[in-house]
Amino acid sequence: MAKGKTRKEYSALISTNLIIAILGGLFIIAFSTVYFVSDYQRNLAAEQERLRAITSTVAGRAQSIIGTVSVTLRILDEWCARNPDRDPRVDPEFNALIDVFRDQVKGKVDIKMVRADGGIFFFPSKSLTPLADASDREYFIASKNAPTRELYFSAPIVGRVTHKQQIPISYRVRPNAAHAVLFYATINFEDLDGEFADLLDVPERSVSIVRKDRTVLYRLPYSEHIVGNRIDFAASPRAYDLIEVYNPGRTRRAIFYQELDGLPLYAMVADSYAHMQRAWVKTAAPKALLSLAILAGFLLLNARLIRLLGKNDEMQRMLETAARFDSLTGLKNRRYFFERVSDEMERAKRLKGPVTLAIADIDHFKAVNDEYGHPAGDQALKEIAAIIAANVRSADIAGRIGGEEFAILFPDTKLAIAAEAAERIREAAQGISVGNWKAGISLGLAQWRGQDESIDGLLKRADDALYAAKNAGRNRVVTDES
Ligand code: GH3
Ligand code: MG
Ligand code: MG
Repeated sequence: MAKGKTRKEYSALISTNLIIAILGGLFIIAFSTVYFVSDYQRNLAAEQERLRAITSTVAGRAQSIIGTVSVTLRILDEWCARNPDRDPRVDPEFNALIDVFRDQVKGKVDIKMVRADGGIFFFPSKSLTPLADASDREYFIASKNAPTRELYFSAPIVGRVTHKQQIPISYRVRPNAAHAVLFYATINFEDLDGEFADLLDVPERSVSIVRKDRTVLYRLPYSEHIVGNRIDFAASPRAYDLIEVYNPGRTRRAIFYQELDGLPLYAMVADSYAHMQRAWVKTAAPKALLSLAILAGFLLLNARLIRLLGKNDEMQRMLETAARFDSLTGLKNRRYFFERVSDEMERAKRLKGPVTLAIADIDHFKAVNDEYGHPAGDQALKEIAAIIAANVRSADIAGRIGGEEFAILFPDTKLAIAAEAAERIREAAQGISVGNWKAGISLGLAQWRGQDESIDGLLKRADDALYAAKNAGRNRVVTDES
């Protein structure tokens, strides 16, 4: 039947829509997840690359200062080797070299001299008594005893004259008239701060210079817990790398280090992962909201569509009911009744069971309408229909096929048995009355002759039996025995 198919189509549409909603929702979730994970990784890689770039800038700047110091200390040593009899503290030529150096480093580094007894002298020396004593200083002990003449980077100290925090870079010189054992350059922290401040645009980031034995020589921002102490990390064989440091109870930090060319030092820049992720979180949050909104919108749209389809299905069902059943009596209408009859005949053809058809017409029904009005007639019709419905089996098919005409198809039922049911209906209907009018029903029955007989043929015989019942005085059951 065409209408049944339409309803099936609706439920197929609803199922398809449900599948689309689920798959679509999962797709949006999967797509967003892949997007966010790769976006996160891309962001982290970009942040790490930025850290690497800053580290290389730090290395370059540190290298430039220390390189100048290194070259100058070697020149001064050369001067001493060439002029062993001149005192560098007061020699104008030597002090001119120092001035050139001071110019070059714009006063950020100063060079001093330490005598074998630890006495410290500035250039030029105003007096020949030392300004301070270096004999307990790390650089003095280490540099004096060093097996080779190389630059020695000491742990930071507070200058005894300047009272400033500084990194001493010392170099053992060859014998000279002032009995100097080493020259040392001091780089003030505050001058290094000026060098690197522009690289610290976020509070989480730090710049450090670390000796290869892991002693932190310098750090910006300054931290007394870190500077002068060792930090623990395993450097890779590469000259630069990214390492991660988990400080217990503190934030996870990413540290990028780079070796300074030919020097036992690392430049290091550290940043917290929290900060490196913050930029991503900032852009990801609205994107996450957007994808949630897309997901919600998609699901809502689907829910609406499914509801709408459900409503249509419901309406379709109601329309079908309206199209099949008689609204007054609730019995099958004429069209649907005959549809069902032809289905039943098809079945009977296969099963070869007996089928009997009954046609009922109410006696003198016109009189009810005439005397008591049409609504009273309708009420009687309803009651009679209810009696018919109550007196047939569920397999029997009852319909209202005309104004006050009914039909019942009895499947798997021989004529005599159907006649008994018809008789029961007739008797029960006698209990119905409208005013002085008492209901009587005439029924005509015929048993189907089998597949050689058409529905119309069967209908005609049942109708003829009904006609016979009317002619015989009404309110009776007549069977077609032919
Ligand atoms: P008979 O015993 O020969 O059947 O007499 P009758 O008056 O019942 O005649 P007929 O079968 O021709 O009945 C037709 C009448 O049934 C006409 C109309 O007044 C009445 N009728 C048909 N349909 C309806 C309906 O839906 N409601 C009401 N109230 N009356 C109807
Ligand atoms: Mg009639
Ligand atoms: Mg009638």
